[in-house]
Amino acid sequence: MLPVVMYHHINSDDLPLSNTDTMMEEHLKLIAHRYTTVFPGEQLGAKAICLTFDDAYYDFYHYVYPLLKKYHLKALLAVPSAYILEDTQLQAPQRLSLKHHEIYEKENYREFAPFCTYRELREMVQSGHVAIASHSTNHLNLSEEGVDLKGEIFGSKAVLEENLGYRVESFVLPYGKYNDAVVALAREHYPYVFRIGNALNPSWNGIGGLIYRIKGDGLQTPDELFKPLKQLGFWCKTMIKMAKAKG
Ligand SMILES: [Zn+2]
Repeated sequence: MLPVVMYHHINSDDLPLSNTDTMMEEHLKLIAHRYTTVFPGEQLGAKAICLTFDDAYYDFYHYVYPLLKKYHLKALLAVPSAYILEDTQLQAPQRLSLKHHEIYEKENYREFAPFCTYRELREMVQSGHVAIASHSTNHLNLSEEGVDLKGEIFGSKAVLEENLGYRVESFVLPYGKYNDAVVALAREHYPYVFRIGNALNPSWNGIGGLIYRIKGDGLQTPDELFKPLKQLGFWCKTMIKMAKAKG
């Protein structure tokens, strides 16, 4: 069974969507010791794990990317293309200064460059430690009426590929929200489509065509996700989801 872990921020004020940099380092150190990190589509050994980070906040480049290099790990970064600037002259303290809600509510958020830039995304891809997924264009709830699904799902892929010179094969559903039309269109354009759901995956096909992710934000201990009781919970949920997908 393949565990895929979902993370968001590092050192953000939005605690349910964040880990501290020290917790993340201890957690990644443990993963490096016990598991082999894989990108979507790579061969799955018994100890395979896939790490995913949503929204491409600058804190990923600042805190997580150096740790991936230090511990020889791979991670998938889910990028909402409309938020990405080509480059910035701003320094780290400014770029890390916005509170979580300000990133989305401040009209001039771009003046703080709180997301990774294309220059940074290209560097990370070239390092071999980071793969890029589309996280839609505008990070909307795609299950709501009136959303331009083609623009959000396929348009974002075209924009990312053009700017990165890199083939984007994964799609991460914003807010984990979807309906049949969203899944059909995503599956048409991407071999790997990710949701939320605290279950494991028998293969890269996921369950019912969607790859499930475990919540890795707000860790209380570095090994929290790997404790027997927690693993049993993921396993049970996986069995229920698989039975439902069959029936
Ligand atoms: Zn997101």
